Amino acid sequence: MTFESLGLAPALLRALSEQNYTTPTPIQSEAIPLALAGHDLLGGAQTGTGKTAAFGLPLLHRLATTQGNTQRKPRVLILAPTRELALQVSDSLRGYAKYLRLNIHAIFGGAGMGPQLDALRRGVDVLVATPGRLIDHLERGSAKLDGVEMLIMDEADRMLDMGFLPAIKRILGRLPQSRQTLLFSATFETQIKQLALEFMRNPQQVQI
Ligand code: AMP
Repeated sequence: MTFESLGLAPALLRALSEQNYTTPTPIQSEAIPLALAGHDLLGGAQTGTGKTAAFGLPLLHRLATTQGNTQRKPRVLILAPTRELALQVSDSLRGYAKYLRLNIHAIFGGAGMGPQLDALRRGVDVLVATPGRLIDHLERGSAKLDGVEMLIMDEADRMLDMGFLPAIKRILGRLPQSRQTLLFSATFETQIKQLALEFMRNPQQVQI
């Protein structure tokens, strides 16, 4: 399989070939067609498998090929457990989105609110956030989630281990019902399955 055969936008294919991505990894081959078809996905994958591109390429393809809200409110929300992962995800996405005009921004705790408030005010297309800091922004009214079309939960098991379940549930309650949801986790404990049952629609499973 090739990235071309997955039908990704030419701007993405160009960035991938510049980064010497020639062949999709197994999780990418399985997840990308299902995500492009609009399915909710439960992905079992560890770091190092190429999972960032497995969710990143479908979300960027959607942003590249469809018109969004005019106020530049986030169209995609990615929840990640830590500052490190949030930064890693936003860096990877910026690389894949090199030839697209998109604002991709990470917000996380332990950093000043000022720059995050400025970025949100200027407009963010893809918001990568740790759950606690996103709650702070929701309470201040600085982050608006009513334009979110796609939610990705990355390393969901780690987020639950860190006690983020109440925050995640509050965030999920602020998202539009009609959205696509992708959840990635190394393990699928009961709590993760319950989260999927409650907040996802007929999720397809992808396991590597
Ligand atoms: P991840 O699991 O998303 O953290 O990705 C692990 C590493 O593999 C990162 O350095 C990616 O840039 C790289 N990578 C992901 N997908 C591919 C691919 N299809 N071809 C080559 N490198 C890749």
